[in-house]
Amino acid sequence: MKKALCFSCLHRENRPELGLSDQLVYCRKKEMVVRPKMECPLYSKATARAVQELNRALYGVMEEAEE
Ligand code: SF4
Repeated sequence: MKKALCFSCLHRENRPELGLSDQLVYCRKKEMVVRPKMECPLYSKATARAVQELNRALYGVMEEAEE
């Protein structure tokens, strides 16, 4: 079976404290817990670059913060 889009999506947030399994994911875009989607109009592939840019936007640039 094809893997759901959510697992490679930039908007999925890893929240182990919620006890989410592979049946449910937290979608940051929708701000809610959802079932993994096979299709989603909001999907954005979590490329290394996209993840890096997101982290920078969320947490600032680490290298500079350590000075
Ligand atoms: S935007 Fe769509 S594909 Fe991405 S995590 Fe949310 S529900 Fe899943």
